[in-house]
Amino acid sequence: MQTTFPTVTVLDLPFVKTTAAALLPVLQQRISDRQNTFVVTANPEIAMYAHEHADYRDLLLSADFITPDGVGILDGAKILKQPLPERITGFDTLQALLAWGSDHHRSAYFLGAKPAVIAQLKPILARDYPGLVIAGIRDGYFQDAAPIVADIEAQQPDMVFAALGFPKQEQFIHQHRHVTKGLWMGVGGSFDVLAGAVVRAPKFWQDHHLEWFYRTVKEPKRLKRIAVIPHYLHLVRQQAKRQQ
Ligand code: UDP
Repeated sequence: MQTTFPTVTVLDLPFVKTTAAALLPVLQQRISDRQNTFVVTANPEIAMYAHEHADYRDLLLSADFITPDGVGILDGAKILKQPLPERITGFDTLQALLAWGSDHHRSAYFLGAKPAVIAQLKPILARDYPGLVIAGIRDGYFQDAAPIVADIEAQQPDMVFAALGFPKQEQFIHQHRHVTKGLWMGVGGSFDVLAGAVVRAPKFWQDHHLEWFYRTVKEPKRLKRIAVIPHYLHLVRQQAKRQQ
Protein backbone atom coordinates (compact mmCIF):
# COMPACT_ATOMS: atom_id res chain seq x y z
CA MET A 1 0.00 0.00 0.00
CA GLN A 2 1.21 3.51 -0.69
CA THR A 3 1.04 6.01 2.15
CA THR A 4 -0.97 8.96 0.80
CA PHE A 5 -3.86 8.19 3.14
CA PRO A 6 -4.14 6.72 6.62
CA THR A 7 -5.82 3.33 6.67
CA VAL A 8 -8.24 1.43 8.90
CA THR A 9 -7.81 -2.34 8.96
CA VAL A 10 -11.11 -4.21 8.93
CA LEU A 11 -10.60 -7.99 9.22
CA ASP A 12 -7.38 -8.25 7.21
CA LEU A 13 -7.69 -5.37 4.78
CA PRO A 14 -6.33 -1.82 5.22
CA PHE A 15 -8.99 0.54 3.84
CA VAL A 16 -8.07 4.08 2.85
CA LYS A 17 -9.53 6.58 5.27
CA THR A 18 -10.54 9.24 2.82
CA THR A 19 -13.29 10.47 0.53
CA ALA A 20 -13.89 9.86 -3.15
CA ALA A 21 -13.26 13.57 -3.74
CA ALA A 22 -9.80 13.28 -2.19
CA LEU A 23 -8.90 9.93 -3.74
CA LEU A 24 -9.77 10.75 -7.33
CA PRO A 25 -7.17 13.48 -7.91
CA VAL A 26 -4.52 11.17 -6.45
CA LEU A 27 -5.50 8.43 -8.91
CA GLN A 28 -5.58 10.93 -11.78
CA GLN A 29 -2.14 12.24 -10.87
CA ARG A 30 -0.73 8.72 -10.79
CA ILE A 31 -2.23 8.04 -14.22
CA SER A 32 -0.70 11.26 -15.55
CA ASP A 33 2.66 10.28 -14.02
CA ARG A 34 2.40 6.83 -15.66
CA GLN A 35 2.64 5.21 -12.26
CA ASN A 36 1.41 1.63 -12.14
CA THR A 37 -1.57 1.51 -9.77
CA PHE A 38 -3.84 -1.27 -8.52
CA VAL A 39 -7.12 -0.21 -6.91
CA VAL A 40 -9.29 -2.72 -5.03
CA THR A 41 -12.83 -1.79 -4.05
CA ALA A 42 -13.77 -4.31 -1.39
CA ASN A 43 -17.14 -5.17 0.15
CA PRO A 44 -17.77 -7.55 3.08
CA GLU A 45 -18.04 -10.52 0.74
CA ILE A 46 -14.55 -9.80 -0.59
CA ALA A 47 -13.22 -9.18 2.94
CA MET A 48 -14.61 -12.53 4.07
CA TYR A 49 -13.24 -14.34 1.05
CA ALA A 50 -9.83 -12.76 1.71
CA HIS A 51 -10.08 -13.79 5.36
CA GLU A 52 -10.63 -17.38 4.30
CA HIS A 53 -8.15 -17.49 1.40
CA ALA A 54 -4.65 -16.37 2.34
CA ASP A 55 -3.48 -16.28 -1.30
CA TYR A 56 -6.25 -13.88 -2.24
CA ARG A 57 -5.65 -11.77 0.87
CA ASP A 58 -1.95 -11.49 0.02
CA LEU A 59 -2.63 -10.35 -3.49
CA LEU A 60 -5.13 -7.76 -2.26
CA LEU A 61 -2.47 -6.51 0.13
CA SER A 62 -0.25 -5.83 -2.89
CA ALA A 63 -2.81 -3.23 -4.11
CA ASP A 64 -1.98 0.48 -3.83
CA PHE A 65 -5.43 1.43 -2.56
CA ILE A 66 -8.23 -0.62 -0.99
CA THR A 67 -11.48 1.33 -0.77
CA PRO A 68 -14.61 0.54 1.26
CA ASP A 69 -17.19 -0.54 -1.32
CA GLY A 70 -20.17 -1.35 0.85
CA VAL A 71 -21.89 -0.11 3.93
CA GLY A 72 -20.81 -3.29 5.75
CA ILE A 73 -17.21 -2.08 5.65
CA LEU A 74 -18.26 1.28 7.15
CA ASP A 75 -20.19 -0.62 9.85
CA GLY A 76 -17.09 -2.72 10.55
CA ALA A 77 -14.90 0.38 10.91
CA LYS A 78 -17.46 1.88 13.30
CA ILE A 79 -17.41 -1.26 15.45
CA LEU A 80 -13.63 -0.87 15.59
CA LYS A 81 -14.14 2.76 16.67
CA GLN A 82 -12.16 3.97 13.68
CA PRO A 83 -14.93 5.25 11.40
CA LEU A 84 -14.36 5.67 7.69
CA PRO A 85 -15.90 8.76 6.09
CA GLU A 86 -17.81 7.21 3.18
CA ARG A 87 -18.20 4.40 0.70
CA ILE A 88 -15.95 4.64 -2.33
CA THR A 89 -17.56 2.26 -4.77
CA GLY A 90 -16.06 0.64 -7.82
CA PHE A 91 -18.93 1.86 -9.96
CA ASP A 92 -18.67 5.51 -8.89
CA THR A 93 -14.88 5.47 -9.21
CA LEU A 94 -15.17 3.93 -12.67
CA GLN A 95 -17.67 6.58 -13.78
CA ALA A 96 -15.55 9.41 -12.38
CA LEU A 97 -12.41 8.10 -14.11
CA LEU A 98 -14.25 7.67 -17.40
CA ALA A 99 -15.59 11.24 -17.24
CA TRP A 100 -12.13 12.56 -16.44
CA GLY A 101 -10.63 10.33 -19.12
CA SER A 102 -13.09 11.71 -21.65
CA ASP A 103 -12.25 15.30 -20.73
CA HIS A 104 -8.50 14.64 -20.94
CA HIS A 105 -8.42 12.20 -23.88
CA ARG A 106 -7.09 9.32 -21.84
CA SER A 107 -7.28 5.73 -22.97
CA ALA A 108 -9.08 2.86 -21.28
CA TYR A 109 -9.23 -0.89 -21.80
CA PHE A 110 -12.43 -2.71 -20.88
CA LEU A 111 -12.27 -6.40 -20.08
CA GLY A 112 -15.22 -8.36 -18.74
CA ALA A 113 -18.95 -9.07 -18.82
CA LYS A 114 -20.85 -11.11 -21.38
CA PRO A 115 -20.43 -10.60 -25.15
CA ALA A 116 -24.00 -9.20 -25.42
CA VAL A 117 -23.26 -6.66 -22.67
CA ILE A 118 -20.06 -5.59 -24.42
CA ALA A 119 -21.99 -5.08 -27.66
CA GLN A 120 -24.42 -2.81 -25.80
CA LEU A 121 -21.63 -1.03 -23.97
CA LYS A 122 -19.65 0.12 -27.03
CA PRO A 123 -22.15 2.73 -28.32
CA ILE A 124 -22.92 3.85 -24.75
CA LEU A 125 -19.24 4.60 -24.09
CA ALA A 126 -18.93 6.45 -27.39
CA ARG A 127 -22.02 8.52 -26.57
CA ASP A 128 -21.31 9.25 -22.90
CA TYR A 129 -17.51 9.57 -22.99
CA PRO A 130 -16.76 10.95 -26.47
CA GLY A 131 -13.20 12.06 -25.62
CA LEU A 132 -12.19 8.71 -24.15
CA VAL A 133 -9.89 6.58 -26.28
CA ILE A 134 -11.11 2.97 -26.19
CA ALA A 135 -7.85 1.03 -26.27
CA GLY A 136 -9.69 -2.28 -26.21
CA ILE A 137 -13.03 -3.72 -25.24
CA ARG A 138 -13.66 -7.45 -24.87
CA ASP A 139 -15.85 -9.81 -22.95
CA GLY A 140 -14.73 -11.70 -19.89
CA TYR A 141 -15.45 -15.23 -21.06
CA PHE A 142 -12.06 -16.13 -22.52
CA GLN A 143 -10.12 -19.40 -22.24
CA ASP A 144 -6.66 -17.99 -22.81
CA ALA A 145 -5.54 -14.75 -21.17
CA ALA A 146 -2.27 -14.54 -23.14
CA PRO A 147 -3.56 -12.76 -26.28
CA ILE A 148 -5.53 -10.32 -24.14
CA VAL A 149 -2.53 -9.49 -22.00
CA ALA A 150 -0.41 -9.09 -25.15
CA ASP A 151 -3.00 -6.67 -26.53
CA ILE A 152 -3.05 -4.63 -23.30
CA GLU A 153 0.74 -4.52 -23.39
CA ALA A 154 0.71 -3.38 -27.02
CA GLN A 155 -1.95 -0.71 -26.41
CA GLN A 156 -0.47 0.68 -23.16
CA PRO A 157 -3.81 2.10 -21.96
CA ASP A 158 -3.91 4.65 -19.16
CA MET A 159 -6.58 2.59 -17.38
CA VAL A 160 -7.60 -1.06 -17.41
CA PHE A 161 -11.00 -1.98 -15.98
CA ALA A 162 -11.52 -5.67 -15.28
CA ALA A 163 -15.17 -6.65 -14.79
CA LEU A 164 -14.68 -10.35 -14.15
CA GLY A 165 -16.16 -10.57 -10.67
CA PHE A 166 -14.00 -11.36 -7.65
CA PRO A 167 -11.66 -13.15 -7.04
CA LYS A 168 -10.94 -13.52 -10.76
CA GLN A 169 -10.53 -9.83 -11.55
CA GLU A 170 -8.03 -9.14 -8.77
CA GLN A 171 -6.11 -12.34 -9.59
CA PHE A 172 -5.93 -11.25 -13.22
CA ILE A 173 -4.77 -7.75 -12.29
CA HIS A 174 -2.19 -8.98 -9.80
CA GLN A 175 -0.76 -11.34 -12.38
CA HIS A 176 -0.64 -8.92 -15.31
CA ARG A 177 -0.60 -5.37 -14.00
CA HIS A 178 3.06 -4.80 -14.78
CA VAL A 179 2.58 -4.98 -18.55
CA THR A 180 1.48 -1.33 -18.45
CA LYS A 181 2.25 1.71 -16.36
CA GLY A 182 -1.46 2.44 -16.03
CA LEU A 183 -4.17 2.15 -13.41
CA TRP A 184 -5.91 -1.23 -12.98
CA MET A 185 -9.15 -1.69 -11.12
CA GLY A 186 -11.58 -4.58 -10.69
CA VAL A 187 -15.12 -3.31 -11.19
CA GLY A 188 -17.35 -6.38 -10.70
CA GLY A 189 -20.70 -6.07 -12.41
CA SER A 190 -20.20 -2.41 -13.39
CA PHE A 191 -20.23 -3.01 -17.17
CA ASP A 192 -23.68 -4.57 -16.81
CA VAL A 193 -24.85 -1.42 -15.05
CA LEU A 194 -23.15 0.95 -17.53
CA ALA A 195 -24.67 -0.96 -20.44
CA GLY A 196 -28.10 -0.78 -18.82
CA ALA A 197 -28.34 -4.58 -18.48
CA VAL A 198 -28.62 -4.21 -14.68
CA VAL A 199 -30.23 -1.20 -13.07
CA ARG A 200 -28.62 0.41 -10.04
CA ALA A 201 -30.80 1.20 -7.04
CA PRO A 202 -32.50 4.63 -7.17
CA LYS A 203 -30.74 7.37 -5.22
CA PHE A 204 -33.13 7.09 -2.27
CA TRP A 205 -32.01 3.51 -1.65
CA GLN A 206 -28.35 4.40 -2.10
CA ASP A 207 -28.62 7.39 0.26
CA HIS A 208 -30.27 5.25 2.91
CA HIS A 209 -27.60 2.58 2.60
CA LEU A 210 -30.20 0.17 1.26
CA GLU A 211 -28.82 -0.45 -2.22
CA TRP A 212 -27.97 -4.01 -1.20
CA PHE A 213 -31.61 -4.58 -0.22
CA TYR A 214 -33.00 -3.13 -3.45
CA ARG A 215 -30.62 -5.16 -5.61
CA THR A 216 -31.23 -8.36 -3.66
CA VAL A 217 -34.99 -8.08 -4.15
CA LYS A 218 -34.45 -7.46 -7.88
CA GLU A 219 -31.88 -10.23 -8.20
CA PRO A 220 -32.39 -12.91 -5.56
CA LYS A 221 -29.18 -14.72 -6.57
CA ARG A 222 -27.38 -11.89 -4.77
CA LEU A 223 -28.71 -13.26 -1.50
CA LYS A 224 -25.50 -15.21 -0.95
CA ARG A 225 -23.68 -11.90 -0.73
CA ILE A 226 -25.63 -10.57 2.20
CA ALA A 227 -25.66 -14.01 3.81
CA VAL A 228 -22.00 -13.47 4.78
CA ILE A 229 -22.74 -10.26 6.70
CA PRO A 230 -23.63 -11.74 10.13
CA HIS A 231 -20.49 -13.89 10.18
CA TYR A 232 -18.44 -10.96 8.91
CA LEU A 233 -19.75 -8.65 11.66
CA HIS A 234 -19.11 -11.35 14.25
CA LEU A 235 -15.47 -11.57 13.14
CA VAL A 236 -15.11 -7.78 13.22
CA ARG A 237 -16.52 -7.71 16.78
CA GLN A 238 -13.94 -10.33 17.77
CA GLN A 239 -11.25 -8.12 16.20
CA ALA A 240 -12.58 -5.14 18.19
CA LYS A 241 -12.38 -7.14 21.44
CA ARG A 242 -8.81 -8.22 20.72
CA GLN A 243 -7.87 -4.58 20.08
CA GLN A 244 -9.45 -3.24 23.28
N1 UDP B 1 -17.81 -12.23 -15.50
C1 UDP B 1 -16.90 -12.36 -16.54
N2 UDP B 1 -16.20 -13.52 -16.67
C2 UDP B 1 -16.36 -14.55 -15.82
C3 UDP B 1 -17.27 -14.41 -14.73
C4 UDP B 1 -17.97 -13.23 -14.62
O1 UDP B 1 -16.73 -11.43 -17.33
O2 UDP B 1 -15.69 -15.58 -16.01
C5 UDP B 1 -18.54 -10.98 -15.37
C6 UDP B 1 -20.06 -11.10 -15.31
O3 UDP B 1 -20.59 -11.18 -16.62
C7 UDP B 1 -20.42 -9.81 -14.60
C8 UDP B 1 -19.22 -9.59 -13.67
O4 UDP B 1 -18.17 -10.42 -14.15
O5 UDP B 1 -20.46 -8.76 -15.53
C9 UDP B 1 -19.48 -9.99 -12.22
O6 UDP B 1 -20.57 -9.37 -11.76
P1 UDP B 1 -21.09 -9.55 -10.29
O7 UDP B 1 -22.28 -8.67 -10.15
O8 UDP B 1 -21.23 -11.02 -9.99
O9 UDP B 1 -19.84 -9.03 -9.47
P2 UDP B 1 -19.67 -8.01 -8.29
O10 UDP B 1 -20.19 -6.69 -8.75
O11 UDP B 1 -20.37 -8.56 -7.11
O12 UDP B 1 -18.17 -8.08 -8.10
